[in-house]
Amino acid sequence: MQLHLSTWPEVEAYLERSKGIIIPIGSTEQHGPTGFIGTDALCPEIIALAAAEEADLLVGPTFNVGCAQHHLAFAGSMTLRPSTMIATLCDWINSLAHHGFEKVYFLNGHGGNSTTIDAAFAEVYAQSSIPPGSSHGHRVDCKLRNWWELSGVFALCKELYKKGHGSHATPSEVAVTYFAYPGHIKNAPLDPEIAPNGRFTDAEDYRRKFPDGRIGSNPALATPEDGGKLVKKASTALIEDFEKFNNE
Ligand SMILES: [Zn+2]
Repeated sequence: MQLHLSTWPEVEAYLERSKGIIIPIGSTEQHGPTGFIGTDALCPEIIALAAAEEADLLVGPTFNVGCAQHHLAFAGSMTLRPSTMIATLCDWINSLAHHGFEKVYFLNGHGGNSTTIDAAFAEVYAQSSIPPGSSHGHRVDCKLRNWWELSGVFALCKELYKKGHGSHATPSEVAVTYFAYPGHIKNAPLDPEIAPNGRFTDAEDYRRKFPDGRIGSNPALATPEDGGKLVKKASTALIEDFEKFNNE
């Protein structure tokens, strides 16, 4: 079930049987010469929607611009400042809590969001604890899960890509998007085949160290078939993980 394709009476009825919702969350940032700019938002969305095909769960709108300042030297990347993202996430969570959602599960597609999402959870809990309690008495429990950390998913990534998985524009995330959008598969030369590894600070530093945008990866290994396997593994694990969280 998708929030955007539901009516308010349908959401009201859903709340009678469940207090949980999944919010895909990601980023709008370059993913090398062959990966979609939407990769980090699309992956959790694709996986959450696949889970919603198999189980009675509600998927909310995708939070699709995250913390990506380090990608701004590449055309098309967009970012929120951490403070903006925290404030926006608080409003998303408190809106849902207002209707009686008690369990908000963020399925994340961008590692660079993690600390900011955790800070937003801390802000929501502080608003609940500090008098006069701006959460208006609606207590809410939030969870962050990176999709590649769902049970069995990283093991499958390692099995599929023994070399060249890397950490940005990885063949696994690119495969997931190619599986869902086969009409948009890209071809471009990748030199070197496996991108360099390393750390970075701001956008200029990132572009200097990783000139084509990739980190440690060879996304030429990505196939839609692999993407299908990853989506199946991740969506099955998501159903289980979300159910466990709902019952905590
Ligand atoms: Zn990514």
